[in-house]
Amino acid sequence: SLQDKLDKALHTLKGHGQISEINVAETVKEIRRALVDADVSYKVAKEFTNDVREKALGQDVLTTLNPGQLMTKIVHDEMANLMGGTTSELNISENPTKILIAGLQGSGKTTFSGKLANYLKTKKSKKPLLVAGDVYRPAAIDQLKVLGEQVGVPVFTEEGNQKPADIAKNALAYAKANGHNVIIFDTAGRLAVDSFMMREIREVHDAVEPTETLFVVDSMTGQDAVNTAKAFNDVLDYDGVVLTKLDGDTRGGAALTIRTVVDKPIKFISTGEKMEALDVFHPNRMADRILGMGDVISLVERAQEQFDEEEAKRLQKKIAKNKFDFNDFLKQINQIKRMGNMKDLLGMIPGAGKALKDIDIDDDAFKHVEAIIYSMSPIERENPDIIDASRKRRIAKGSGRSVQDVNNLLKQFSQMGKMMKFMQTSQGKNMMKMMGS
Ligand code: GDP
Repeated sequence: SLQDKLDKALHTLKGHGQISEINVAETVKEIRRALVDADVSYKVAKEFTNDVREKALGQDVLTTLNPGQLMTKIVHDEMANLMGGTTSELNISENPTKILIAGLQGSGKTTFSGKLANYLKTKKSKKPLLVAGDVYRPAAIDQLKVLGEQVGVPVFTEEGNQKPADIAKNALAYAKANGHNVIIFDTAGRLAVDSFMMREIREVHDAVEPTETLFVVDSMTGQDAVNTAKAFNDVLDYDGVVLTKLDGDTRGGAALTIRTVVDKPIKFISTGEKMEALDVFHPNRMADRILGMGDVISLVERAQEQFDEEEAKRLQKKIAKNKFDFNDFLKQINQIKRMGNMKDLLGMIPGAGKALKDIDIDDDAFKHVEAIIYSMSPIERENPDIIDASRKRRIAKGSGRSVQDVNNLLKQFSQMGKMMKFMQTSQGKNMMKMMGS
């Protein structure tokens, strides 16, 4: 993947004390190759790496820093720049806001329309209306109806009407009469760019006079995505791009090239088939993602906010004396919870985001554990050893969990205590060192 290749390229610089012309040139060449392999156009890759080279050589004052790190930072910042630098918000100020969705068949238009409706309803407190404009594929209309039902947004359809521009006009009138302040027009696409489709979408565009026209493109189609983006832009002069299917094994090249080729911001990325799998596009985070850095900076910041040195020392002593109890455990849980939701946190760990994205992590993962601990008496929390069968039954009842759940927690807790104690020994510390290097 692009990530691995860039990693390798940047590795060249590791171990070198200074950034020299020679090792920068080598690294830059490898970065360029990695980008081209990931479907970034040659021209864009070349311009990009030229900029990176200039910046790298211009910053030799920073030789105290690890050159590999510095180079990674330069590549990261240049990438974010290439993708527009800052986040570009959707304009939803008009009442009603009219959003036209365009793109090829199969790009993910209908799915995105549903997601956008959901996003505007739940995150922006809007009252959206979805409009089914694909008059050629009855299945597309049904699909939109299903999605609308799923997210609780009504879908305007006119079965039998073969003129998308007329449907659009009627939908506008309907929306006004029914107090919808956002209207999302899903349109028909074809398998490839053709003049009929372009004429039709242009007509719908003229009938709707959209606040925002969004072009939806499948990021898995690589260089084709860029060509399609250009063809649609020539006809529609759209306001923003939506990259879909970024959850698969995509190479990320499209995100890097599109902005340069059409000079339109990427506004959203779609990362799955679920209605919630939609993110506002942040160039910085995308650069992180491509470079596989995860959002380590925010993770460290959040951890630091919660870290209390005195408390850490106190805990260390307790662990050494085998006195780590359920009260300490509760404190730890609360500390983790204050850092944010579990899935977000895990996603910030480099390399972990991808591995974990399909796993449904319960935000309330600790809820049951906490309930059980809160049902223990203070003495039990300090001395888990005294929890016998009758105490277990009482705790289970109080927490609404089964005796089996209580048993499991006690067992895990005891194992955790042993593990923590082991980590404190010199043997444990050595093991941690070996794992870390
Ligand atoms: P349309 O023809 O442009 O309306 O495309 P659809 O919305 O019907 O999407 C085509 C296929 O891609 C469907 O099977 C969707 O479930 C799937 N799809 C859409 N967006 C995503 C995405 O972000 N990730 C993944 N994995 N699949 C997607």
